[in-house]
Amino acid sequence: MAKIFCVANQKGGVGKTTTTVNLAAGLAKVGQRVLVVDLDPQGNATMGSGIDKRALELSVYDVLLESASVKEAKQTSEKVGYDVLGANRELAGAEVELVDLERRERRLKGALAAANDDYDFVLIDCPPSLSMLTLNGLCCAHGVVVPMQCEYFALEGLSDLVNTIKQVHANLNADLQIIGLLRVMFDPRITLQNQVSDQLKQHFGDKVFDTVIPRNVRLAEAPSYGLPGVVFDPASKGAQAFIEFAREMVRRVGSM
Ligand code: ADP
Ligand code: MG
Repeated sequence: MAKIFCVANQKGGVGKTTTTVNLAAGLAKVGQRVLVVDLDPQGNATMGSGIDKRALELSVYDVLLESASVKEAKQTSEKVGYDVLGANRELAGAEVELVDLERRERRLKGALAAANDDYDFVLIDCPPSLSMLTLNGLCCAHGVVVPMQCEYFALEGLSDLVNTIKQVHANLNADLQIIGLLRVMFDPRITLQNQVSDQLKQHFGDKVFDTVIPRNVRLAEAPSYGLPGVVFDPASKGAQAFIEFAREMVRRVGSM
C-alpha cells in the first residue's frame, strides 16, 4: 500500500519542489516505487523530473476533473526512476472549476486509491498557498513534510500551516499528521541559522528530521537539465543529503 505525503509550505521559494523531486529520486535509488504528483500550476516538479509540461496530453488536471485515471495520465520518466502525474497552467483553472463540484476536496484521494498497489510512496508537490489544490493533497495524505529555511520569520509562517493541518485532520482526514520539518538550504556558517535550527528542535522535538539539506549549487543547477540533483550529480553534498533523507523517510514510515 502506498504511503502518501504532501510536501507543503504556503511560502514560495522555500524548497518544496526541490525536496519533492530529490526525495523521489532518493527513494527510487533505495528501491522504492515512487509517484510524484505535481499540484502546482507552475509545473516545476514536472519539468524538474524531465517531463515537458507543454507536451502533456493528460495531467493531474484531468484526474481532478475525473476525465482520466492516474494510470492513464501518469508519465514514466526513465531518467529519474519514478513516475510523474504532471501539471501545467491548465491546472490553475481547476481551482475555480472544482468549487461547484461534489467531493471537491476528495478528488485526488479517490483517484490515488485506484493506484495504491502500484507505488510504495506518493509525493505531492503542493502550490505555495492553502488553496483547493493543496486541500486535495492534504485530504489524501498520511502526512506532511514541511521544508523550511532556518530564518527569522520561519516559525511565524508555520502557524498558518499547522492550523490548516489541524482543521483538515479534524474535518476531512483523521490520518493526517506532520511527519516532519525538513531544514533546507542550510548554511552552518551562519549563526542565525544555527539559532533558528535549535529553536525548531526545542519547539518541535522529534518532528524535526535528523537530516539537514545544505545549500548546494548543484541542487539549484539540476532543474535546468530537467533532472533532480540526486540524478544530475549524485556525488554532490546536496544529493548525498537527499539520499540520506530518503533513508530516514523509509525508517520513519516503517514505524508509522
Ligand atoms: P518552492 O517549490 O518552495 O517554490 P523551490 O524548490 O523551487 O521552492 O526552490 C526555490 C529556489 O531555491 C530554486 O531556485 C531552487 O533551485 C533553489 N534551492 C532549493 N533548495 C536548494 C538548496 N538546498 N541549495 C541551493 N539552492 C536551492
Ligand atoms: Mg515549487
